[in-house]
Amino acid sequence: MDPMIKPVYLRNRDVQNDKRKFVTDYAIAMAVGNVIDDVKCVQRDRDLWRIYVGTRASRNVLYTNGFDLESRHIDVFDTNPFSAGTEKPDERIVRVLVKGIPLSVDDDCIKNMLVKMGAKLTSDIKYEKIRNPTTRKMTEILNGNRFVYMEPLAEGSFLPRTSYCAGLKCTIYHDGQPKNERKKICTNCWANDHLKFQCEYEKCCRICKEVGHNPGSDKCTHYDPNQKDVIAFCGNEDVLSNFYPSEMKIFGQTFKTPEHAFQHTKAMRCGDLHRADQIMKAETALDAKRIGNQIMMSDQWFETRDDVMRNILDAKVAQCKQFCEALLKSNKNTTFVEAAYDDYWGSGLNKLGTLHTSSGHWPGKNELGRIYTEIARSLRNSQATTRSRRGTLK
Ligand SMILES: [Zn+2]
Ligand SMILES: [Zn+2]
Repeated sequence: MDPMIKPVYLRNRDVQNDKRKFVTDYAIAMAVGNVIDDVKCVQRDRDLWRIYVGTRASRNVLYTNGFDLESRHIDVFDTNPFSAGTEKPDERIVRVLVKGIPLSVDDDCIKNMLVKMGAKLTSDIKYEKIRNPTTRKMTEILNGNRFVYMEPLAEGSFLPRTSYCAGLKCTIYHDGQPKNERKKICTNCWANDHLKFQCEYEKCCRICKEVGHNPGSDKCTHYDPNQKDVIAFCGNEDVLSNFYPSEMKIFGQTFKTPEHAFQHTKAMRCGDLHRADQIMKAETALDAKRIGNQIMMSDQWFETRDDVMRNILDAKVAQCKQFCEALLKSNKNTTFVEAAYDDYWGSGLNKLGTLHTSSGHWPGKNELGRIYTEIARSLRNSQATTRSRRGTLK
C-alpha cells in the first residue's frame, strides 16, 4: 500500500440510517468493494470513518462516484470533515442529477442552466455509468444521466424538477427537493383514491354525490338559487377576475394581467426562471396560469402566496378604477367568490354551480373571495370617512 495515498472520509451519521443498527466495517468494505477493487483498510474512529485504497486512480473513482450502501447513495469526503481549519464541519456537497439530455449536448450547456438557477457548482459535469444489477459494480458504459456537485442551497430553496437545456426538456433531482403532491381527486365520481381516467363509477354531483345531475341543478340537495349578496366572478371579461386584461405595475415590473403577476412571482420564488420567462411572454392570463401550474411549489411559497395575492390586488385597486368601482358595489353582507374549478382560490364550481349552491357547501376554500371581502370593506370604510369629512367641512 502506498503510504502517500490519503484516505477518503465518511461521517458515521451519514452512513448509519438507523440508530439501533450499527454499520459494520464489513458492510462498508463490501459496499466500497462494489465500486473499486483495492480497498485496503476501513477504520472507524468515533464518528469518523477512514477508507484507505491501493491507488490514486481508485481514490479518484471513489471520491467521484461515492458508493451505495443498502440502496442509499453515500458520498465520501476528500478531507477530514471534522478537522479544524478552513473546512467547516457541516460543509456538505449536494449531488445534482440531470436526466433526459442527449449525450450530444455540451456539458457547458448543462452547467449554464444550473448556474442560472442559482446553483454554485463545486465539480465538473460527470457521467453516470451502468451498474451490474446484482453486484452493483460499475461498467464502463454510460446510462446517459449526468451529475454534478453543488454547494447546499439556502434553507428552503431548491432547483426546479423540470427545465430546458438546449431547447430540450430535462429532469433535475437533488436531495432537499420537495415532492410535488397533487391531490388525487377523481373529477368524475369525486372519490380521492383514483383519477378520472381510472374511474369505474358513474358520474356524480360533487356536492351531494348523487348520480344524474351537476352542482347547481334543482335536483341537488344543496340547491339554493336565491342566495343574497353573492357576487361571483370569473373569466377575462369580468373586471373582478385576475384574468381581466388590465396592465399593472408591481414588484418593479409591468404585467399584462394580475394573473401574470401572480404566476410570475410564483415562478421566481420557486426558482423556476425558465417558466418565469415563459409567463412574461404568455399572451393571455389563461396561458400564464397553465404555465404556472407546472411549477413545483416550495413550502415557502405556500406560506407566502396569500400575501403575494393581497399585494397584487392592492396594486390593482390603485391602478384599475373599474375594479375599485366593482368592489364598492358591495355591502357588509356581500360574499365575493371566484367561480372557478380551483379548490384553494375559488369555489371549486362553475358560475351556475356557485350561484345555485348554498355557500356553505362550495367545495373550494374561496381564498380569493375572502381577500376581496377584506379589500372591499376597507374601501367602503375609507369612502365613508372621506364623505363624513366632506360633511364636516360644509
Ligand atoms: Zn372516480
Ligand atoms: Zn347534487
